[in-house]
Amino acid sequence: MATVGLRGAWPPMLGRFAAAWLLAGVAAASPILEFDYSKDTGGFFAAPERRATLSLAGNLVNRFLDDLAPIVPSGTNTWSYWLTRPDNLVYEFPQNETIPTNVIRIFPGGSSLSDSGPLAITYSAIPWQLAGDEAWKATVRTRGQPGAAGTGATDYGPFAGSLVFNASKAWSSGTAAPAAGTYDLLSIAAHELLHLFGFGVSQSFQNLVVSGSFVGPHALAAAGPANPHLLLAGQSHWAAGTTGTIAGLSATAIMNETFAAGERRLPTDLDRAALQDIGWRPAAIGDVDRDGAVTPDDLLVIGASGAFTAGGIHGWNEGDVNGDGLVNPDDLLAISATGLFNGGPYALAATSPVLVVPEPDGVVPGLVSLATWFCARYLRQNRVGTSRRSWRRSRWASARVGIRSAGLRSSNSWS
Ligand SMILES: [Zn+2]
Repeated sequence: MATVGLRGAWPPMLGRFAAAWLLAGVAAASPILEFDYSKDTGGFFAAPERRATLSLAGNLVNRFLDDLAPIVPSGTNTWSYWLTRPDNLVYEFPQNETIPTNVIRIFPGGSSLSDSGPLAITYSAIPWQLAGDEAWKATVRTRGQPGAAGTGATDYGPFAGSLVFNASKAWSSGTAAPAAGTYDLLSIAAHELLHLFGFGVSQSFQNLVVSGSFVGPHALAAAGPANPHLLLAGQSHWAAGTTGTIAGLSATAIMNETFAAGERRLPTDLDRAALQDIGWRPAAIGDVDRDGAVTPDDLLVIGASGAFTAGGIHGWNEGDVNGDGLVNPDDLLAISATGLFNGGPYALAATSPVLVVPEPDGVVPGLVSLATWFCARYLRQNRVGTSRRSWRRSRWASARVGIRSAGLRSSNSWS
């Protein structure tokens, strides 16, 4: 209810533009990461902090739009899939599950791999016994994306997988910088989730590997002179030393093969560009709620995150628009700087979703005042008592609808 009141408070001009954007908007949804902890019998993710960190890793990775068709068996259209359990690496073959629209079902867990073994492994689920008509089989294999079919695939439509974390290692479980001698769950979970989205493991990725280098055009454009050849390690990771950028600053790519203890890495524009090359559409800059339009609702989602001035690491749908890991006023400026916010049709960003935060004088004038207005309003809300906080919580809950609590895995990767 408070939401309606706030929306009504927006300047009428903005409301009109928002309606225009919606009409011009491209209908595409965001994947829903459904983490299912039922196969984590060792309790690696028993602690709520670890589940929250995995969910946040999903938020950091899940900046893509796509329409994943539901998998709904019926009659003679039946299936099972090959799943590797995350707790003991034993195979299972779940029968005739329904996978809802846009959902990717992820089974996270801990397994006591050897201390010299990998930090984590992602196992993408594979269709196993598949019977019925050809349209049904195609839906299971591609999630309704024609480009994902066959050996010449240019797209990818996953439905499930498991994420195995090595329980023999020492982990830092939260969002604070990892302690010395421990591995950063946030970084490594984000790395594994990118595998689950197809990095290194999908046919569409392998189709862009030529003589040990990745030749996806978006990745090459993002790589720039620092990485002229985009060499790969083992065909599923960037070569050691590969760098991308985060908020315009150079950073070690998260999809390099190894992690050091105490190291934190987050997805760079290079990592994300490779996902674009293998078939994912990047969410538009500023489309925090990923509804296909950049509107005042996106600012409300940022405010509702409750993370607006906390200074921690936050994900895309919590408002980290400029990708620098923080949700703060710079993100409001980044939204306004898109040029989409106060006019023009909605359009997907043609290049990297990571923005360099502009100086205020480079911002569309109406939007500076809008961002300022929003900041002031949010700060006022912060000072109101418990009723306003509960409003923020409810908005927070709705903002997180896109990410259900659940899990993922990647294949043949050391992390
Ligand atoms: Zn890996």
